[in-house]
Amino acid sequence: MRNVCVFCGGEVENHVTRVIIETGDNIIIVENVPAGVCTRCGEKEFSPEVVRRLEHVRREQVTADRELRVPVVEFEAVPA
Ligand SMILES: [Zn+2]
Repeated sequence: MRNVCVFCGGEVENHVTRVIIETGDNIIIVENVPAGVCTRCGEKEFSPEVVRRLEHVRREQVTADRELRVPVVEFEAVPA
């Protein structure tokens, strides 16, 4: 799959990428997701099959392969 970015006309190359799915206060990180990534603007596009599988992760209880600690910072608490 090598084509042209619909947003900027840049070249799209196949990569694996990290997708972050947020549902309320839950965040699920999916690693090594096949995607077309624009070399110019960084826009990612996914095949219908990949989108379907990511929707499965969003909807269903999936077993985590590993877990990360995720810091949460309020912007107002960040020094200027
Ligand atoms: Zn682009």
